[in-house]
Amino acid sequence: MSLNGQVAVVTGASRGIGRAIAMKLAAQGAAVVVTATSEAGAAKTAEEIVAAGGKALAVKVDVSVVAEVEGLFKQAVEAFGKVDILVNNAGITKDGLLLRMKEEDWDAVLDVNLKGCFNCTREAAKLMSKARYGRIVNVSSVVGEMGNPGQANYCASKAGMIGLTKSVAKELARRNVTVNAVTPGFIETDMTAELSEKTREALQEQIPMGRLGSSDDIAGAVLFLVSDAAAYVTGHVLSVNGGMYM
Ligand code: NAP
Repeated sequence: MSLNGQVAVVTGASRGIGRAIAMKLAAQGAAVVVTATSEAGAAKTAEEIVAAGGKALAVKVDVSVVAEVEGLFKQAVEAFGKVDILVNNAGITKDGLLLRMKEEDWDAVLDVNLKGCFNCTREAAKLMSKARYGRIVNVSSVVGEMGNPGQANYCASKAGMIGLTKSVAKELARRNVTVNAVTPGFIETDMTAELSEKTREALQEQIPMGRLGSSDDIAGAVLFLVSDAAAYVTGHVLSVNGGMYM
């Protein structure tokens, strides 16, 4: 699954799943544009890639802001000449039951998770359509497929990413640009670190494989979708959830 000579943009790659994806793509030879909301966060992963012998550029960007996303792709092209791969991984949660959910918590989650995915996809699509090549992978979630109490905003954003994935897949297929989604189950990262031991045990019981997933489990699925092995796969939603939702 060599990615030698390819250029990847991975959003939200300072930690967790995004970091694992950036490291995995770089290990296969891709030059990786690492983004985060802070310069230090992006630089940390980029430095690790370079230390391991890879190529990386760190860019601070808020994916919900169109002008910043335009700047991101401009910097990527200035540094590496093109963008072959986009992984829309940046995401946040602001949980609460519907009746208590504040409008700003709805807006913040939709702005980062769904509008951020749209902003980056639109910029990448301009370059990829012209180049007649591209691979876009959107990191959605199992709860976007099955729903979850206390996460109406998050689940709506993640379900929206699936609709976006399939529509853009149809629009870009003739340009040799594939667009797919992965739906992780519960993965050990900062996002799930706040779960109590009781919740964690209850979750584990719902997972046929009996464990939470790792960031590397997701990175492997993303690597497959951006590789030549998946050249004829588009508009697909790949579950990586240990069997918790089929
Ligand atoms: P995480 O550890 O909380 O990391 C989130 C990443 O997103 C960080 O790099 C963060 O950057 C970045 N980010 C946040 N807001 C951003 C913004 N406005 N613009 C750009 N980047 C932003 O999360 P994770 O668990 O690795 O999750 C990664 C993705 O997988 C998310 O889309 C999440 O919804 C999805 N997912 C996670 C799980 C899970 O169980 N963990 C399950 C299903 C799906 P900073 O470091 O600068 O804040």
